[in-house]
Amino acid sequence: MQLPAALDEKFTQLLGRYPVKRSALIPMMMYAQDQFGFLSDEVLEEIAKRVGLNVLQVTETLAYYSMLRRKPGGRYHIQVCTNISCMLRGANDLYKHVQKRLGIGNKEVSPSGTFSLEEVECIGACTGAPAMQVNYDYYENLDPDKVDAIFEQLQDGKKPKPVPVTSGSLHPRNPAEIPVISKRFGIPNSTKIDVYLQNEGYQALEKALKQMTPDQIIDEMKKSNLRGRGGAGFPAGMKWSFVPKDIPKPKYILANGDESEPGTSKDRPLMEMDPHQLIEGMIIAGRAIGSQQGYVYIRGEYRYVLDIVEGAIKEAYERGYLGKNILGSGFNFELAAHTGAGAYECGEESALMESLEGKRGYPRIKPPFPAVVGLYGCPTVINNVETLSTVPAVIRQGGDWYAALGTPKNGGTRLYSISGHINKPGIYELPLGFNLKRLIEEVAGGMKDGKKLKAVIPGGSSCPLLSADQIDVALDYDSVAKIGSMLGSGGTVIIDEETCMVDLARRIMHFYAHESCGWCIPCREGTTWLRKLLDRFHNGGGCADDISLIDELSKNMLGRTFCPLGDAAALPTISIVKKWRHEFEDHLRGKCAFKPAEMIVGAS
Ligand code: SF4
Repeated sequence: MQLPAALDEKFTQLLGRYPVKRSALIPMMMYAQDQFGFLSDEVLEEIAKRVGLNVLQVTETLAYYSMLRRKPGGRYHIQVCTNISCMLRGANDLYKHVQKRLGIGNKEVSPSGTFSLEEVECIGACTGAPAMQVNYDYYENLDPDKVDAIFEQLQDGKKPKPVPVTSGSLHPRNPAEIPVISKRFGIPNSTKIDVYLQNEGYQALEKALKQMTPDQIIDEMKKSNLRGRGGAGFPAGMKWSFVPKDIPKPKYILANGDESEPGTSKDRPLMEMDPHQLIEGMIIAGRAIGSQQGYVYIRGEYRYVLDIVEGAIKEAYERGYLGKNILGSGFNFELAAHTGAGAYECGEESALMESLEGKRGYPRIKPPFPAVVGLYGCPTVINNVETLSTVPAVIRQGGDWYAALGTPKNGGTRLYSISGHINKPGIYELPLGFNLKRLIEEVAGGMKDGKKLKAVIPGGSSCPLLSADQIDVALDYDSVAKIGSMLGSGGTVIIDEETCMVDLARRIMHFYAHESCGWCIPCREGTTWLRKLLDRFHNGGGCADDISLIDELSKNMLGRTFCPLGDAAALPTISIVKKWRHEFEDHLRGKCAFKPAEMIVGAS
């Protein structure tokens, strides 16, 4: 097949990025789909030939990823998020409005081929909810009038300006904030290397390469008490120290930018507004563990972010911060960005590595852990984007300095993306241990429309929910664990008194049922049955025994699955049944007091 020259060149570039050709498979399919609108048999045959697979292997992989299409979409593919943060800000009504306006249903294409519509899971625009994407462009803080204006421009052949991106979720600094990793947010041209260099950029790398040994870098990281910001909270320095030193295999540094946990939108701004900070952190991590190759895995929906990161990588190569003999130190480090193609599960570290190897994102059985057997069977450090973005500040100013910003065992600051029923949804950087009540009331402007608080999801949809009487708590890993929840990803979702908790549980379960990879039975069957039971309640059905059944099914999933998705589905559900059981009982009596959202189930 004769490919357009630009795509042919892109394929050649992609194939040169990895030691194993198959790793280029998913990015090749994404770029081919961008070119042709879908993946035809002919295109897949060509890709299969180039990566050395057969077509069956390629289509089997393709089927796993929700963004990859075998049929043409519209010229403008409209994706409306209805996950929790968007739902709480009116996304269901917005979705119905879009359906009516376009005259098409979920996964349908308009007769003219101009539009296609899809209800999608969280697109990481929680602080700008409700939001939608037109192809890869984000449109946030929407209402029906704004949506109409966007469609009118598209119909006239114009491209509406995709603003605000996450920079629209920034507010004037609150005095309580301590900007460490967000200090360059909002600076004009903050993605450019010259601006980065004028603002302390690459100083830490210089120090790490010229004044520190790899062991000293790891010691500094240990001193910082920096715990992984992806959700698990594992100490980063300790993770790095697990990588075997004398092993005749390549080692890899991976940045996990597959941010897909509903309620979470903090890696997106970090990559969008400060990509060099992440790059610098990855090079230092490479130096610490003796790695010469890194990859930034970015979720497929964040294409504009991928372009920004790739631009920054190119600049870093041009200025000698990447490549051979960096800053004359003799240290070599290569870095590339890699696109995902729509799969929440790929945020799990071992699933991410499978995906990076060009396969379905099924998690691996652990042990062995990635530090010993990771990407391509080699020692690998995989950290969240926020964790790696923190490394330059730790090295520049010292582990003790960083640790002192937080609490004992919970060093430093972190980004909170706060969304839902709050006056100032947005992105805030606060020290570990900051009080949740103060975050809601002082920093984020209090409850929207003066309503009362009912519940808080402290760190993404997989966390047990807190009730209003639990919010006087320090936001650090240990304090939040003590009251039965988790600090998680820092994606804080605020829920007001008029929200139906049965409906919220239903929407959360739809997400996990949709994203379960189906490998293990408790997760595959559990999420499906829970979704059905919760739908039944929502539709006015259900019986008294169902409440206990939901609780029991969820508890049977806990700790019985290969990866944390089973727990992620179970934990919020158990907490909702425990704390708001009376709302399930009200549903049985036909007396839900809260106007639950009309059920929209397209994404599932
Ligand atoms: Fe797949 Fe769910 Fe099992 Fe994870 S817990 S491996 S998502 S089936």
